[in-house]
Amino acid sequence: MVVISSYMTRARSTSWQEPLWVTVYPINGDGSDVTADYIERLDPDTFSSIEQFMIGEARRYGVSLQRPVRLELGRLIEELPPVPPESANPVKVGLWSLRFRWWARSIISDQPGPPPDIKLFVVYHDPEQNPVLAHSLGLQKGMLGVVHVFASSRAAGTNNFVITHEMLHTLGATDKYAGAKNLPIYPHGYAAPDQIPLYPQKYAEVMGGRIPLSATDATMPQGLKQARVGLITAREIRWADSTGPEPGPPVEKAADSRPHRPDHSSAPLSMAGTVLSSTPAPLARSSAAAHSLGE
Ligand SMILES: [Zn+2]
Repeated sequence: MVVISSYMTRARSTSWQEPLWVTVYPINGDGSDVTADYIERLDPDTFSSIEQFMIGEARRYGVSLQRPVRLELGRLIEELPPVPPESANPVKVGLWSLRFRWWARSIISDQPGPPPDIKLFVVYHDPEQNPVLAHSLGLQKGMLGVVHVFASSRAAGTNNFVITHEMLHTLGATDKYAGAKNLPIYPHGYAAPDQIPLYPQKYAEVMGGRIPLSATDATMPQGLKQARVGLITAREIRWADSTGPEPGPPVEKAADSRPHRPDHSSAPLSMAGTVLSSTPAPLARSSAAAHSLGE
């Protein structure tokens, strides 16, 4: 029964016949007042750029569904999710995955309404106290994610990019970056692999993780306005089939034409003088282990 219902959920999840319900459950990652205050100020608008991004990108791939995903804000969860193992040992990862799915099911049991299709546990951290974040991850099995982000309105755009990246993992999208510097992989990790000249790119492919500025540098997008779903990711989440037409051109908006930030991809990404992350830490691990789970 579990196998059947899990299969049915997954088949339905990428049929794109009706909206997928996604709930963001905030968690205070460091117990600080700063983080508590930030979580208190969250509202559904905080995440509206995710819905808008999915609407615009789905349309570009010819998906007729008006609103592919509907995001809701769940109640605060007062417990941290089980910590994933450090190693990629398949037995350890499998056991953790099982624990995590069990934890997720029980921790939301007192939340109002029916359970959503996708559950994203978003763990907030005060950037002053925790300049480097733990790895985020998205799990296709169970359609769950743990996303570590900063409790700061200045990080809200980047937070939504990372949340979307992990959400797409739950739908079967794979990472498209690699190497010691976690650079987007050419061509599939590039939003515009045919662009001439190739660099700098204007957008990040959402699973490529960053905007390629040169063959050796990439920078975090400031938000989903600087992100696109590439063709391979679109195929993985079944917005496109392998023989289908290429997507239409991105819709240009005024906000997209702002100048790029200076290249500091080899230096830590900083915000208000605080080192946030030396690599795309929120994207650094995610599903390499998660996708190969089997127990
Ligand atoms: Zn990832």
